[in-house]
Amino acid sequence: MLETAQNLIRKTGKKLGLDESEIKRLIKIDAEHKFKISLDSGKEFSAYRIQHSNKLGPYKGGIRFHPQVNLDEVRALATLMSLKTAAVGLPLGGGKGGVAVDPKQITKEELEELSRKYVQHLEPHIGPDKDVPAPDVNTNPTVIDWMVDEYQKLTGDTTKSSFTGKSLENGGSLGRDAATGRGGVIAFRELLKLQKNKDKELTYAVQGFGNVGAFFALVAEQVQPTWKLVAASDSSATIFNAAGFSARKLNEYKKQGKRFKDYKANDTETIDNASFTGIEADVLVLAALEDAINSSNMRQITSRYIVEMANGPINEDAYDFLGKKNVVILPDIVANAGGVIVSYLEWVQNKSGVHWPEDKVNKELEKYIKDAVARMYQTSIDNKVSLKEAAFILAVKRLTS
Ligand code: NAD
Repeated sequence: MLETAQNLIRKTGKKLGLDESEIKRLIKIDAEHKFKISLDSGKEFSAYRIQHSNKLGPYKGGIRFHPQVNLDEVRALATLMSLKTAAVGLPLGGGKGGVAVDPKQITKEELEELSRKYVQHLEPHIGPDKDVPAPDVNTNPTVIDWMVDEYQKLTGDTTKSSFTGKSLENGGSLGRDAATGRGGVIAFRELLKLQKNKDKELTYAVQGFGNVGAFFALVAEQVQPTWKLVAASDSSATIFNAAGFSARKLNEYKKQGKRFKDYKANDTETIDNASFTGIEADVLVLAALEDAINSSNMRQITSRYIVEMANGPINEDAYDFLGKKNVVILPDIVANAGGVIVSYLEWVQNKSGVHWPEDKVNKELEKYIKDAVARMYQTSIDNKVSLKEAAFILAVKRLTS
């Protein structure tokens, strides 16, 4: 993922006529914080916070708790954050954090201790105007509330603007939980409009029915009822039903802690996850983890559209291959920017001591996404490049202006 992102920055830089030193500056990471967190129980975990660029504003990006977290992954995600905030026009930079831990293997008390110790290590380097972390995979408002509390204890800062993605009672924003999925639906709808797509009905499959994937489907069900959800997966299996699923019912099923491999319903097939890419659907919505589509499975794809809701779910080889097959890919740095946009709105609300109604948050989100999609689409036409290259052109131009 790091290589894919850096190669695309290089390619974009060259296209824009930047010299080698400017390209190096774009790729260069400002600061890397690597440390070990030791719990009272004796367990020890590797932790990271990577600050890629603050040229446009404070570093911004989530913290991931996952056993596969490693330095290169966090570097890549931090780099993508700088490009994302730039592409959608936010006054923020890019950063990312992570701890190599499986939260299911530790107790709730240990999770709280880990979250608080993460902040104790990083306190001098983060803060409302320096670096504003947020949740990512396996981190949620509870984790963020512990972190804010720890930051407040250490610094006396009571604005709560040191982190976003907090619970509503603790300064979180309405609309934040659904924001990434909602942004993806708006972005894809706008793209179809710009392409003058006249399809009456579109079938789609969601890989990763977690926070992002489920909200994508729930919002689509409300605002785009002609899109039909025909498949969904979690880490256990993929379920397929040509007649379509109710996103609301699937979400209720998942909220009970159940897995798709145990899902039983008439006309529903259960298939293994390796076959997800070959599913018959007009659109694949990738909302699990990175590198989901690569040279080993790219040939299975029959879909016409892919929406990158996860960060970096398609590797470079697969990108080139799918581009040649005219598969339209809505790129991550715009498709999944809804989360950071509403994080930004949360930060603005905290800094000015106000709390907006959900409708206002959603309208602001829609404005940012529509504008970013329109600019990306026009750039792709003007420069005869893919949407991903167009999004990178927009981002690199902002980062070098
Ligand atoms: P999540 O943990 O809530 O959901 C991930 C889902 O993917 C889970 O249902 C999990 O079972 C499933 N999954 C894992 N491996 C899988 C596999 N091999 N096949 C199919 N499904 C699999 O995480 P999330 O917050 O929804 O994030 C998903 C992706 O979106 C990540 O790449 C994240 O970085 C990205 N993202 C998240 C946000 C956000 O606001 N949460 C914002 C931008 C980007």
